Amino acid sequence: MRVEAAKRRSAMHRLAGAACLLAGILAFVPAPSRAAGADVPTASIPADASIPADKVPLVAYSGRVAGDDARTRLILDFDKRPEISVHYVANPYRILIDLPDTVFALKKDDVAARGLFSDIRYGGMAAGKSRIVLTADRPASVVASEVRKEEGGAGYRLVVDTAIVTEDAFAKLLSGQSWQDAAAVAETRPVLPGAATGDGGTFVIAVDAGHGGIDNGAQGAATGTHEKAVTLAFARELTTALNASPATKAVLTRDKDEFLSLSQRVQLARNQGANLLISVHADTLRQKDIRGATVYTISDKASDSLAANLAARENLSDEIAGMPLQGEPAEVADILIDLTRRETQAFSISLAREVVGAFEGEVKLINNPHRHAGFRVLTAPDVPSVLLELGFLSNKDDEQLLLDPAWQKKVAGLIAEAVQRYRSVVIANGG
Ligand code: ZN
Repeated sequence: MRVEAAKRRSAMHRLAGAACLLAGILAFVPAPSRAAGADVPTASIPADASIPADKVPLVAYSGRVAGDDARTRLILDFDKRPEISVHYVANPYRILIDLPDTVFALKKDDVAARGLFSDIRYGGMAAGKSRIVLTADRPASVVASEVRKEEGGAGYRLVVDTAIVTEDAFAKLLSGQSWQDAAAVAETRPVLPGAATGDGGTFVIAVDAGHGGIDNGAQGAATGTHEKAVTLAFARELTTALNASPATKAVLTRDKDEFLSLSQRVQLARNQGANLLISVHADTLRQKDIRGATVYTISDKASDSLAANLAARENLSDEIAGMPLQGEPAEVADILIDLTRRETQAFSISLAREVVGAFEGEVKLINNPHRHAGFRVLTAPDVPSVLLELGFLSNKDDEQLLLDPAWQKKVAGLIAEAVQRYRSVVIANGG
């Protein structure tokens, strides 16, 4: 079975992913010309994957979703010919349509979820790549897709027809596909205890702006601002504040609106030899009156239900972007790594205390401002890490502050001071 799957994968590797997948699917799914939906015109020519991607982003300027809970059609109009590839991810059932760099100039309702799909998202992934994620309640697949040139040279229309398939057929799609997109697969690096000790004296801080690209994060109650924009603005401010001291060097995990998986964030910090990782967030809560900052450290057991819910929501980021689930690295059994983990945990807690201390009397804090839960972005075994909820976008007072450059600057300055104090303590203790 495994040999079969490997053979299938290598054979598929030589072909354009989309065209090959489609050919496979079309072999056992009826052609869409037999579709029942009156609203659904016919389409049977597979997408042309032979045209090289242009460097200039495509613009998707309008779209439409039509169909029912058995068959659904997605239509998108582009200024240039789009080259697509299709992948599938389970739990929940998702169809991923990968595109070159695309600006989605769509109205909110253009591609609202309907028919087979309970959720439709789109946005940037890694540099030069964009993605549409169609989430379905039942297993579903692309049965046909085509790109046609509009009459009069007005642009190109992408038509993707999807239909429900059996669990078995969906499982076959999953096992038979190849991920040629390297960015979709998180890299792994063996964990070397003490690997992240910085480069000879410079104290490196990885500043991680939460969310990005296809994952917007939370949304402001009053202004509708996306969390991903708030976190990036703040991360930039924090980097500037940290870089004001020659003893510390701050690096951003992302410096633009792009998607990074949680493990990529961790890996980027480790690759930079980071001594610390600070992940910045501004989420929403159902209880709109709750406000103030929280500092989180990692723990298997959450400190309380608010922390547990928040971690569960944050950990959805990869799922939102349609990342395939990665197995946990088989390194936990190593006793050295276990010791490193414990030491790292102690450092994380001491940083969290410094930050809370710096905020007291200066920045509004929630009750019990140091909490812990199983945030996946905090799992580097060798980099002390904290996740900072600066405030809640669900509270309009917090939202106003979060969007205020003067407040951002003040808070960034306080965190930079906390990091300097933490660093002196670590150095004094011979760390
Ligand atoms: Zn967040």
